[in-house]
Amino acid sequence: MDALAPKSKFRPLAVNQVDVGGFFGPQIDMIATKTARLLFDRCIEAGMLDQVDPDRPNPGLRIPYQHGNTVTTQMFWDSDFGKSIETAAYALNRTRDAELEARIDEVVDAYGRLQAEDGYLNSFFLRIEPGTRWANLRDQHELYNAGHLIEGAVAYYQATGKRKLLDIMCRYADLIDRTFGPKADQKHGYPGHPELELALVRLGRATGEQRYLDLAKYFVDQRGQQPHYYDAEAVARGGSPDDFHFGNYEYCQAHKPVREQREVVGHAVRAAYLYAGMADVATEFSDDSLDPALEALWSHLTDRNLYVTGGFGPSKENEGLTFDYDLPNATAYAETCAAVALVFWASRMLGRAPDARFTDVMERALYNGALAGLSADGTQFFYDNPLESYGAHHRWRWHRCPCCPPNISRLVASIGTYFYGVAEDELALHLYCENAAEIEVAGVRTRVEQKTAYPKDGRITVTLTPETPVEFTLSLRVPGWAKGFSLAVNGEASDATPEKGYLRLQRRWQAGDRVELNLQMEPEMLYAHHAVATDQGRVALLRGPLVYCVEETDNKAPLNAYVVKDGARMRLDQAEGLGDAVSLAIEAIVENQPTDALYATTPPERGAASLKAVPYYLWDNRAPGAMLVWLRREA
Ligand SMILES: [Zn+2]
Repeated sequence: MDALAPKSKFRPLAVNQVDVGGFFGPQIDMIATKTARLLFDRCIEAGMLDQVDPDRPNPGLRIPYQHGNTVTTQMFWDSDFGKSIETAAYALNRTRDAELEARIDEVVDAYGRLQAEDGYLNSFFLRIEPGTRWANLRDQHELYNAGHLIEGAVAYYQATGKRKLLDIMCRYADLIDRTFGPKADQKHGYPGHPELELALVRLGRATGEQRYLDLAKYFVDQRGQQPHYYDAEAVARGGSPDDFHFGNYEYCQAHKPVREQREVVGHAVRAAYLYAGMADVATEFSDDSLDPALEALWSHLTDRNLYVTGGFGPSKENEGLTFDYDLPNATAYAETCAAVALVFWASRMLGRAPDARFTDVMERALYNGALAGLSADGTQFFYDNPLESYGAHHRWRWHRCPCCPPNISRLVASIGTYFYGVAEDELALHLYCENAAEIEVAGVRTRVEQKTAYPKDGRITVTLTPETPVEFTLSLRVPGWAKGFSLAVNGEASDATPEKGYLRLQRRWQAGDRVELNLQMEPEMLYAHHAVATDQGRVALLRGPLVYCVEETDNKAPLNAYVVKDGARMRLDQAEGLGDAVSLAIEAIVENQPTDALYATTPPERGAASLKAVPYYLWDNRAPGAMLVWLRREA
């Protein structure tokens, strides 16, 4: 490729450009009619509006400090409101709803009254503990909160055209821009919990203001530089850099400059948000110097540290990574937010070219590790996502650190934005789902419609309706799990072969052009690398993007009494009590123990049985009970 040629920049569509039906349509409707409201109810119930609204009595400190008295989850409340506003904004794209809009406006007005003269905006440091702003970026989430409110502001503006929150957040972003930077009179810090980086890129794209992109780049470039900012700020607080609950800066990925980082370490959500921000900066600035780090980090996560569900971060201790191949099932932390963050990161790795390595993982994390976080009725939420449960793990109504509920909600409600990537003369179809989108590609407004029952089956029909005939490349993903595929353009079979997992069709497109892709979607068995101790002698079941699990409610014997032979017959069935989800009936062996003794000298008796597996994301929506992803196997 000509090094001087302008590099492609694939950007996502705004949520309101994609009208989603099919698999995600009913879920978005559920969020629009139920979950979005419930998020506001529960935020307000927790006291968040009392903290934000200066006209209300000050609620004071309600949630005690932890981690060596540096942090209380009450410090994150602005982020919970930010994500709830964002979710509700996406809901308004679906159906304009005056009552929901009024609820958002109530919170926006409170933020308007709260904002300091100079633009500063953080409810905890303005009302609960005033006078300590910017004192502890490492632990106290100030810039993280700003990022989430910015994302909420962009979403609300795009959904309604209302500028108030966007203007509030631009004033705050301008203050942050004046406060942080390379000049001698500026602070050289950066977010302890990354998030603001990717939010500033969204703000820059939405407003066209280059300075927000520049600030995102500054935070990325500055991270982990010496002399270390977190050391200096600890000393400035009158403390010691050694006095840090999590020991070292790997926890917040500030242990070295980002371009020198090669392994995913520390807190999982922080990590993926940071890498998402890095990928955004790489795209916006055509900055190849970030590539070696991003590629190595991606490989380190996906080759050695990713659950089959697309969740990651096995440890509750640091809510993150431990050591390679440490993927325990029953105690997996695998926070919902981490899988959501991985969707963000993966989608941004597609910023410069379609590459199914990233999209396949994005899809796996979306349909499994992330989607499991939301109950089928849209009212309860998983924080951690084990791959085996003995029956006691259930979704929460709410959490003292309620980061996950609005995070999975905003992801699902905005899912259309992850379907496509648009560059100057290329349109990439990353995810398949029934939808209609209005997209400008190669300067021509084009309607793109996908007809499909995906992920129930792998047939997808794409119809293009450009306003005038236009030449561009249409790239269609062939997922890594597809054993085969067929492609036809206007009814004529095509022998196109995938490049980096994408079929790239370059032609002059005309209204009514039709592309049919048929992906072979069969149930499959997956085996884990030998180094994953807990999965040896076990097998996971997969069909298309969906990972399956077995639940006690469908299967009589203890789940570990079943053994599946390699190549066992698997038949598609209808899941009971789970809408129209496809279940799998698998030929199996069941073992019966001769006695109840804890240990016995005689082996169990064996008989033929059938196992029923359901999509992992739907588990714990019926009678509570045990659940298992990795089934016992034998040759
Ligand atoms: Zn979370």
